[in-house]
Amino acid sequence: MKIEMVDLKNQYLSIQKEIDSEVLNVIRDGNYINGPQVFSFKKNLERYLAVGNVIPCANGTDALQIAMMALDLNRGDEVIIPAFTYIATAEVVALLGLKPVWVDVNPDTFNIDPLAFEAAITPKTRLVVPVHLYGQCADMENIMRIANQHGIYVIEDTAQAIGAEYTYSNGKNTKAGTIGNIGCTSFFPSKNLGCFGDGGAIISNDQSLAKKIQIISNHGQEVKYIHTLVGVNSRLDTLQSAILDVKLKYLDLYNQARLSAASVYDLRLSEIEQIQIPVRFQKSTHVFHQYTIKVKDGSRDDLKSYLADNNISTMIYYPIPIHLQKAYLSDNYKAGSFPISEGLSNSVISLPMHTELNLNTLEFICDKISKFYKR
Ligand SMILES: *Cc1c(COP(=O)(O)O)cnc(C)c1O
Repeated sequence: MKIEMVDLKNQYLSIQKEIDSEVLNVIRDGNYINGPQVFSFKKNLERYLAVGNVIPCANGTDALQIAMMALDLNRGDEVIIPAFTYIATAEVVALLGLKPVWVDVNPDTFNIDPLAFEAAITPKTRLVVPVHLYGQCADMENIMRIANQHGIYVIEDTAQAIGAEYTYSNGKNTKAGTIGNIGCTSFFPSKNLGCFGDGGAIISNDQSLAKKIQIISNHGQEVKYIHTLVGVNSRLDTLQSAILDVKLKYLDLYNQARLSAASVYDLRLSEIEQIQIPVRFQKSTHVFHQYTIKVKDGSRDDLKSYLADNNISTMIYYPIPIHLQKAYLSDNYKAGSFPISEGLSNSVISLPMHTELNLNTLEFICDKISKFYKR
């Protein structure tokens, strides 16, 4: 049997009764758009994150786009983004006519390097988008300090880190996505809090920004048929909200299960000298959306095919940094512009990671990896 990257089906089976009953309720009630479950989920997520406002929307990419539309940005304004991230972060910048400025990442945490961010600031810089890659927060205190000094907005892309906790130097804890001006997340099925289709949310403690975000996400209308802003149509379905409201109750357990799986990997793989296990950033918990290792001796692709031959799925997140993607090529950047991001694209590999992994499976995967390096 093949070991997959995720196992959504068995996760569903473990909460089938609750899910089925909530889904049936929605179908029978007929409030398929903006039903009471949407409001309930919004409120419960606000409580979970201890944040003033959650605005549900259609997906994580929309969340980023709406967040950027809510800031008073102008065409050509510069937005700083890590070169090593999922394409959605960059896409919306281009769509809105803003100018993406890539920066390199930290070689150990894979997250945006605050010094690189600071060095890339120009008088046209208006926004930075740190991504909490693989489930661990970026260095938010330094990013916020630099951003505040220069009057730059911060949008956290927390699509991979819902539930992660950031600890400030003064000991205060806060949830990922609640630190910047706005946080954006995704409920894509394989995310740590995933629905059964597409979904997303925008997070903010700023009351007036939240109001604007709400209006933009609903065709720019504050009152029905009165359009005060240019908006979009981006809603979270009632059905998805009902599913998410059930799953939110299990999010901490799910993240705990991922952490346990990661500990098994850590223990076994740290013995292999060709592998660097995920490096923990002391100011953040890690919710292991992905368990991503770095292969140090250039054998990454061989390891990937060896594991595939042994029925173990793996993925490369991400094989090409954004500045080298055809759609985003520009005269300002070339191969070699961001050596760390480019190096990571050639050396990282993500192993199966989900809430249903058992010890036997984890041991099997680790055995195979050990065997590969002992050949
Ligand atoms: C998944 C993801 C998104 C986009 O979410 P969708 O719901 O698929 O649109 C954005 N940023 C990051 C880092 C992601 O992992």
